[in-house]
Amino acid sequence: MKYMGVNEVREAFLKFFEGKDHLRLPSASLIPHNDNSLLLINSGMAPLKPFFTGQETPPRKRVTTCQKCIRTGDIENVGKTARHGTFFEMLGDFSFGDYFKNEIIPWSWEFVTKVMELPEDKLYVTVYQDDDEAAKIWHEKVGVPKDRIFYMGKEDNFWEHGTGPCGPCSEIYYDRGEEYGCGKPDCTVGCDCDRYMEFWNLVFTQFNAEPDGTYTELEQKNIDTGMGLERMATILQGVDSIFDVDTIKAIRDAVCGIAGVKYGEDHKTDVSIRVITDHIRSVTFMTSDGILPSNEGRGYVLRRLLRRAARHGKLLGIKDLFLAKLSEVVIENSKDAYPQLEEKKDYIFKLLTVEETGFYKTIDKGMEILKADIEEMKAKGEKVMSGEKSFRLYDTYGFPTDLTLEILEEEGLSLDEDAFHAEMQLQKERARNARGTSTYMGADETIYHRLPVDMETAFAGYDVYENDSEIIAIIANDEVSDIAFEGNDVSVFLKETPFYAESGGQIGDNGIISTDKGKIEITDCIKVVGGKIAHIGKVIEGVVEVGDKAHAAIDVPRRMSISRNHSATHLLQKALRTVLGTHVEQAGSYVSADRLRFDFTHFAAMTPEEIEQVENMVNEKILEGLDVNISQCSMDEARQKGAMALFGEKYGDVVRVVDMGGYSIELCGGAHLKNTAQAGSFKIISENGVAAGVRRIEALTGVGALEFYKKEEDEIKEICKILKAKPDQLLTRLENLVKEEKSAKKELEAYKAKAAAGAVDALCENALDVNGVKIVASNAGDVDGDSLKTMGDKIKDKLGCGVVILASAGNGKVSFVVMATDDAVKKGANAGKIVKVAAECAGGGGGGKPNMARAGGKDASKIDEALKAAEAEAKAQLG
Ligand code: ATP
Ligand code: MG
Repeated sequence: MKYMGVNEVREAFLKFFEGKDHLRLPSASLIPHNDNSLLLINSGMAPLKPFFTGQETPPRKRVTTCQKCIRTGDIENVGKTARHGTFFEMLGDFSFGDYFKNEIIPWSWEFVTKVMELPEDKLYVTVYQDDDEAAKIWHEKVGVPKDRIFYMGKEDNFWEHGTGPCGPCSEIYYDRGEEYGCGKPDCTVGCDCDRYMEFWNLVFTQFNAEPDGTYTELEQKNIDTGMGLERMATILQGVDSIFDVDTIKAIRDAVCGIAGVKYGEDHKTDVSIRVITDHIRSVTFMTSDGILPSNEGRGYVLRRLLRRAARHGKLLGIKDLFLAKLSEVVIENSKDAYPQLEEKKDYIFKLLTVEETGFYKTIDKGMEILKADIEEMKAKGEKVMSGEKSFRLYDTYGFPTDLTLEILEEEGLSLDEDAFHAEMQLQKERARNARGTSTYMGADETIYHRLPVDMETAFAGYDVYENDSEIIAIIANDEVSDIAFEGNDVSVFLKETPFYAESGGQIGDNGIISTDKGKIEITDCIKVVGGKIAHIGKVIEGVVEVGDKAHAAIDVPRRMSISRNHSATHLLQKALRTVLGTHVEQAGSYVSADRLRFDFTHFAAMTPEEIEQVENMVNEKILEGLDVNISQCSMDEARQKGAMALFGEKYGDVVRVVDMGGYSIELCGGAHLKNTAQAGSFKIISENGVAAGVRRIEALTGVGALEFYKKEEDEIKEICKILKAKPDQLLTRLENLVKEEKSAKKELEAYKAKAAAGAVDALCENALDVNGVKIVASNAGDVDGDSLKTMGDKIKDKLGCGVVILASAGNGKVSFVVMATDDAVKKGANAGKIVKVAAECAGGGGGGKPNMARAGGKDASKIDEALKAAEAEAKAQLG
C-alpha cells in the first residue's frame, strides 16, 4: 500500500478505467437535470439515469466519472462516524448494456490490489444471498477465499428503487483493525462500526421490477459502481477518518486556526470541527452549482447546512464571520478537479457572507421570540414548551433547536421533544408532497411517456426557418392518436423541424405546420421526455395524420425579436459584470419576443447611475456592430477561450460557444443575431429584487424598444396638446407654468388673509354689547383648530373688552374655541363654562380656564344651535 493524495486517487481511478476503454465524463451538477425524484445528486449513477433506461443514448457504452454527491440523509452521522460526510466524491464506472459481472469483478480487484496496492488479507467482499454467480466469480476467477465472501440479505445488497431496473450488488470492505472496532463479540463485515469499512459498491442491474412485484431479466444489463474517494484515501493514508485525509485535513486545520482550538483533545469540540469541515464543502460546492439559500427544496438544504456550520462555529467560540474564509480553503484544494470553483470564487464568498450575516440576525430575532415565549410560559406556570412553539422557532425563524433546549434548561424549563419531532414529520410529509410523485425516471408520468422511446425528432438548425418534413406522432386531446381534426388541441412531432423548443430560458417558436389536407397553428414548442420536440397548437383546417408530408414554417419576425432579446441578454450579462463586479452570475433568464428578463446575483439595488452605465454599455456594443460567431468545441477549449461557465453544465463533450466579437463569450444553445447591430437598441425598463441577493432586470430591444419610445413620444404629444406648446418649447413652458402657479398661490394667500381680516372687522362691528362687554359668536367654517385660535386672538384684540365664541367643522369633527379678555372675566365671563355648554349641545365635551377654553363635538349639524346656546350662556354670565 502506498500513500496517495485525494487528487491522485481520483486521477488513478479515472485513468484505470480509461485504460479499459471508458469515456471520462466530468462530474454533473449537484442539481438533478430533468429528474424531480431527487433533490440533489447523491451518487455517480444519478445523473446517468437516462442512459440506463434507454431514454437517451450515452456517448459511449463505457463511462467513468468522479461525481460530487450530497447525502443529507447522512447528516446525523457526520462528525460521529469516521466515514460519512454530507458531501463526498463518488468514483464510478458504468456499463450501458456492455460488460457485466465477469469483467467488473476482476477489474475492481485489479484496481484495488494492483493500483491501490491494498493488502489482500485485509479485504472482504459481500454478495447478495441469491447471487451465486457473483460469489463464484469472486472465488474462482479472482481467488478470494470463501471465508472472505459474505452473503447478505436484500436490505444490504439489493439495489432497488420502486419499479424499473434493479439488481443485486456486491461490496468491497477493508478491515481497518481491531482498534477501530466496537468490541462486540459478533463484530464482523456489515457491522455499523468503523472497523470493516465499505468503500466500493458494485451494482449489477440485471432485473426489471414489475408493478406486480415480480422480477424479469433485463435484455440490456448494466453495471453501476460507486467508490467513496474520501474513504479510499483514508485507507491509503492510514488515517483515522475521512477528516484526516490531505485535502480535508487542510480545511479542518483552517477551522482549528480560526477558532483557536486543537483537534483530538475533546470529543465535543472534535464533533463541531468535523461538522464545520464537512458542511463548508457541501455549501461551497452547492453554491458553485447555482443553488441559492431559501426556505424550501435544495435552497433549504443549503441554508440548513450553512447555518449548522455557523452554529458550530459559535459553539467553538468563533466571533467573526468565517465561512467565506473557510470556503477559500475548499476551493484551493479542489479547484484543479473542479475549475468552476475558482471561476465562481467571488460570487461564492459574497453569497456565504450575506447568508452568514443574515443568520446571526436570525439568531438575535429568535432570541427575542424565545424570551417572550419563556415569559409567557412562566406567567402561565408551564414547564414544558410545546412542540408547535419550538418547531416554529426552528422552522420559521431558523433558530437551532439545540440552542432552544439549552436556553430552556437554563431557565429550568424543558421541551416536548416528541411533539417537536411529530411537527417535523408533518413538515417532511408536506415537503414530500410538494415534490410530487417519484418514478424511476423522476419525470412526471405524462402522456408523452407513451410515445415510442426510440422515436427521434431533429432540430433542423438555427438558420432554417421552414422545411419539408413528415408527421411522425400526434397527441390529440390528450391521447396518442394517428389522426387529428379541425378544432383538436394537439402536440405534433416531426422528423425534422425548424421550430426551436423552449430551453435555456428562450421561449419556443410559433408558426404553422401544413399538409395537403390540413393546417395546424403552433402556439408553443417544448422538449418532452427523451428530448423529443413537441409542437403544441390547434388544428385550424382539415385533418392531419401520422405519415403526412408536412411543411413547417416558423413565425420569422417573432423569431428575430427573440434572437434580438437573446443576444442582448448576453451583452447585458457582460456589462453587468463589468459595472458591478464578477460576483454577478446569471440566476435565471427568460427571453421572449416582446422582452427579456435577466435575474442575477447582486447584493444591493442598482443605483440609477449604474443602470444608465449598463444600458449605455450594451448600446455601445450594439452600435459597434460586433459579429456573432457561433462554434462548437470541447468544454476545455471553451474555457480557454474565456467562455463563462454556466451553472449546471450537462454531460457531453461538445459545447456551443456564442462569441460576440470577443466581448461576450458564453456557452449557449439559443438563437442569436448574426451581428449585434441587428438588436437596434437596448432599453432597461425595470430593476427589482426578486429574492435575497438576486436582482431582476427587464429590458427591451428592437421593435419592443421602438414601441416603448413611440409610446413615450405619443405621451409627449398629448402633453404638448394640453399645454399648447411645441415639443422643443415644452420645458420652458413647464418652467413658466410652475412659476406662474407659485405666484398665483401667493396672491391667493394674500387675498385670503385680507378677506379674513375683513371678516374679523365685520364680526367686531356687529358684536352684541352686554353691560360694556362685547360678545362675538360665529361659525368659522372648515378650518383647523390652530387657525380657529389665531382668528379668536385677532377678534379678541380688536374687541378690547369681550368674549369670542368660535366654532368650526372639518372632517366630520366639530371644534369650539372660547376666549374672554381679562376685564370681561372680571365682569363675570367664564370661557370654560361657555365652551361646555356649546360642546354638550353638539354631542361632545370639554372645558378650560375662564379666559381660554377648547372643546370638541360630534354633530356638525348642531353648530348653530350650539353657538346660540353659548351666546345665551355668555349673556347670562354678564347680565
Ligand atoms: P454506508 O452504509 O457506509 O453509509 P452506503 O451503503 O450508503 O454506505 P452506497 O450507497 O453503496 O453507500 O455508496 C457507494 C459508496 O459511496 C460507498 O461504498 C462509500 O464508499 C461511499 N459513500 C456513501 N455514503 C457516503 C458518505 N456519506 N460519505 C462518504 N462516502 C460515502
Ligand atoms: Mg449510507
